[in-house]
Amino acid sequence: MARPEGDERSDEALRIDLEAVREKYRQERDKRTAGRTYQFARGEFSRYAHDPYTEPRQREPLRDEVDVAVVGAGIGGLLTGARLRQETGLDRIRLIDEAGDVGGTWYWNRFPGVRCDVESYIYMPLLEELGTIPTEKYATGPEILAHLKRIAREYDLYRDALFQTVVTELRWDEAAGRWLVSTDRGDLIRARYVAMSIGLMHRPKLPGLPGLETFAGHSFHTSRWDFDYTGGDSTGGLTRLKDKTVGVIGTGSTTIQIAPHLAEWAERLFLFQRTPAAVDVRGNRPTPPDWAQSLEPGWQQRRMENFHALTSGVPQDEDLVQDRWTQTTAKLAAAILPTGDAGGDPRQRALAAERADFLKMEELRARVDSVVADPATAAALKPYYRLYCKRPCFHDGYLQTFNRPNVTLVDTQGRGVQRLTPAGVVANGREYPLDCLIFATGYEHEFAVPYTVRAGYDIIGRDGVRLSQKWADGARTLHGLQVNGFPNCFILSKVQAGRHVNIAYMLGEQTRHLAYIVGCVEQRGHRVVEACESAEKEWVEEILRLAANDLDFLENCTPGLYNNEGDPKGMPLLNSSYGGGSVQFVNILRRWRAAGDLAGLELR
Ligand code: NAP
Repeated sequence: MARPEGDERSDEALRIDLEAVREKYRQERDKRTAGRTYQFARGEFSRYAHDPYTEPRQREPLRDEVDVAVVGAGIGGLLTGARLRQETGLDRIRLIDEAGDVGGTWYWNRFPGVRCDVESYIYMPLLEELGTIPTEKYATGPEILAHLKRIAREYDLYRDALFQTVVTELRWDEAAGRWLVSTDRGDLIRARYVAMSIGLMHRPKLPGLPGLETFAGHSFHTSRWDFDYTGGDSTGGLTRLKDKTVGVIGTGSTTIQIAPHLAEWAERLFLFQRTPAAVDVRGNRPTPPDWAQSLEPGWQQRRMENFHALTSGVPQDEDLVQDRWTQTTAKLAAAILPTGDAGGDPRQRALAAERADFLKMEELRARVDSVVADPATAAALKPYYRLYCKRPCFHDGYLQTFNRPNVTLVDTQGRGVQRLTPAGVVANGREYPLDCLIFATGYEHEFAVPYTVRAGYDIIGRDGVRLSQKWADGARTLHGLQVNGFPNCFILSKVQAGRHVNIAYMLGEQTRHLAYIVGCVEQRGHRVVEACESAEKEWVEEILRLAANDLDFLENCTPGLYNNEGDPKGMPLLNSSYGGGSVQFVNILRRWRAAGDLAGLELR
């Protein structure tokens, strides 16, 4: 193979037989395409979504008015509240959440071993504003949750918050210029603005298996961990499992964190695998005691920007975070993600990326061999797909788990578990009796499940138009944030917006934009702001034009969350993220604000 001019890759990289690699990946993908069904934790299965953490609290229904109603009190909702409080002077900001407190995903996900695998210094928002430094490079779930509660306290967001409250409808009252927010508590709240940050993956899903309802042992979803049953807490100590046989379905980012704890405490552990995770080094470490003193003002935003650029394929003079995200994905992203920022001949870039990806995956497969003692188990744990087909995982104890005598990997060769029985799980034609079955099977995904279905309520805008109708074929927005026909309404999500592994950074940029728009409306003495039809149309066309870029890659991927379980064409293209890359997306928002003319918005 001739070396293209300027190509500095090693001879080894250039000798790779890409066609053979593609064939192997195709074979593995094809084993997995059939029969991938899920059962949402709703209706008969809604008990899997109940809150095990906070006792139900009674209160009287509310009838009042606020400046802003924010649906969702996770990172997006908190940042919306904090920025609006800081930058617009609006006073009555009401967070509404079905959880018992703020925190979003960090409220729900308390499973043993829970940590964020994006560096805490760039993931935990408003560190500088609050004068805090996380204790570790990758902080625990409880530390992140405590920080989010502190944000709520510092920005006075508890004062008007409503928890354990499910929004049932948002309805625009054109004459009054107000939103009417109805809830399952009988509340009727009038709000000048509404913002929604309902979470990217907040509705648990279960495998759609025959016999799901028949299992007679104990069972729960990882995002509703039952510590009464297991004992212990997010740090481990699952003492009540010591005479129990436990099964886990799923081997994604959640399982790699829970498995070492279950293995330590359960008498027997069976991990039912359909597709192995790609598990890289995490390399956690405590924050050096004097590190905070070395930081210059503005350090957190700079660090976030540096990480964002590197992991989007935009070269930087230095790598501030220096972890496997930046070291690996920076090299690969330039070619894999259609950022358009890295330049070069697209075909050569694509081939180079494929080779680099193969070498990286070989490294991860070799890591399995170097850790897992039993050769058959090691072989089953090796991932054969391109790195970004699934969310990359990082852990330094997961693979070691399989060397324990009480742990069995039940590899289903891509077929998945077959069914449940009253006694346990049937896989590969054999029944595994279990005391406890844990579903680590993920969440309803925002690219595939309609927004109002995931939200659980409809949004009725100007002239009685329902968002569910307007978005029946997929989303239509300006910048992913505003929708024509839905005045004073803001939606925070990845759909038609930037998509990046550091979700907290992207929410930071989106809420900055939101607060700027609301601030302009307030300063200029208007009451209503709405995306114009023409601006929305233009943005939607841009989304569609760029969305096709990803399809080829996704088609060839092993089935999963990112490619609609192997059917990427079955996902509405309109629900794609902005395909020009998240760096470009953030630049578009910044340039738009800098122009100061609120182009594409109508103010009344
Ligand atoms: P997930 O990535 O969606 O994984 C679900 C798992 O269930 C997959 O391994 C899937 O197999 C498996 N599965 C489903 N049905 C099955 C069946 N019938 N038989 C056998 N296996 C079956 O869910 P998750 O691990 O909860 O992660 C969800 C998201 O949470 C991640 O994408 C990530 O964004 C986030 N997360 C982040 C962190 C962090 O540190 N930042 C930590 C945890 C989670 P297939 O692979 O074959 O589909």
